[in-house]
Amino acid sequence: MKIAFFSTQPYDKEFFEKENEKYSFDFNFFETHLGPHIVNAIEDEKAVCVFVNDVLNRKVLEVLAQKGVKFIALRCAGFNNVDLAAAKEFGIRVCRVPAYSPQAVAEHTMAMLLTLNRKTHKAYNRVREQNFSLNGLLGFNLYQKKIGIIGTGKIGKAFARIALGFGAEVVAYDLYPDVELMDLRVKYVTLNTLFSTSDIISLHCPLTPENHYLINKESIDKMKEGVTIINTSRGNLIHTHDAIKALKERKIGLLGIDVYEQEEKLFFKDLSSTIIQDDTIQLLMSFPNVLVTAHQAFFTQEAMEEIAKRTLKSISDLAHNGITDIEVLL
Ligand code: NAD
Repeated sequence: MKIAFFSTQPYDKEFFEKENEKYSFDFNFFETHLGPHIVNAIEDEKAVCVFVNDVLNRKVLEVLAQKGVKFIALRCAGFNNVDLAAAKEFGIRVCRVPAYSPQAVAEHTMAMLLTLNRKTHKAYNRVREQNFSLNGLLGFNLYQKKIGIIGTGKIGKAFARIALGFGAEVVAYDLYPDVELMDLRVKYVTLNTLFSTSDIISLHCPLTPENHYLINKESIDKMKEGVTIINTSRGNLIHTHDAIKALKERKIGLLGIDVYEQEEKLFFKDLSSTIIQDDTIQLLMSFPNVLVTAHQAFFTQEAMEEIAKRTLKSISDLAHNGITDIEVLL
């Protein structure tokens, strides 16, 4: 069976080709995102493998179905970029990798928090220039700080455990509180209480129509002065312009984002020789208290191996047995 890959990077090829030694699928790699501009390039592929910024709207899915595509395999956890109702209507089965390594994302979240707080990125450059002064590097202890986690699924839960390990007080908001976390003394509170009492807020819920722009002027107004916000979930959870205004007013003290509203035009590409047209990200990156990473939280050896393993197994299961345990159902 032939599989078309979109948004492919050299490391995707490396991990998928290695895993394919077990299957012998025929791969067709495209570097570009999947979207209306490229969907006609599909020929006789029965499966399409996509990533976080590929666009699988109704129009794209209709063409895929006409071309005989039966399966969409998301090599990521989130599936907000797929019109599931249209996929169902066109008879296309969708699967994803719900849990390839929650620890990878949770550990990166803590890495962002520590970098922003203890300013190791600045210290690294400073000492290389033989500047050993500490001015401007003042941080704060995480010990006994209140960390508010929104979404305590696999990643939020892994991050909660890390935060508890630092001796922080962890409060959480989720539609479905986790009993195991409650046993570890994580306190579930309302969203408003989490906003108004947390020193640090970390987003780990999926992007849904209900929580689009969850972090906006109204919610930021409820937060503590100088709050730290970390988003390793999805860019559209934060209204970027409202966050910029709050950064200018010092309401947000530190902001770490691994995801960004307009990331599909930037992330996963080397744009070092181009003039970036996105003034918003340029402004954000000019702030000393903002850290941007380019959707790399998932990017560990273990996670990449698991993504390739789960994705190819799932396509094989769907093709041969008509069933997979990681299908995304409406
Ligand atoms: P999960 O499904 O295990 O957990 C999500 C949790 O969020 C669930 O407990 C759910 O009840 C809760 N939730 C849903 N809507 C909510 C809301 N409006 N408010 C509060 N809680 C809500 O998912 P996960 O594996 O923990 O992943 C979470 C998200 O992380 C993914 O949806 C994806 O967007 C993001 N992610 C990012 C990266 C990265 O590299 N940056 C990698 C993987 C996943």
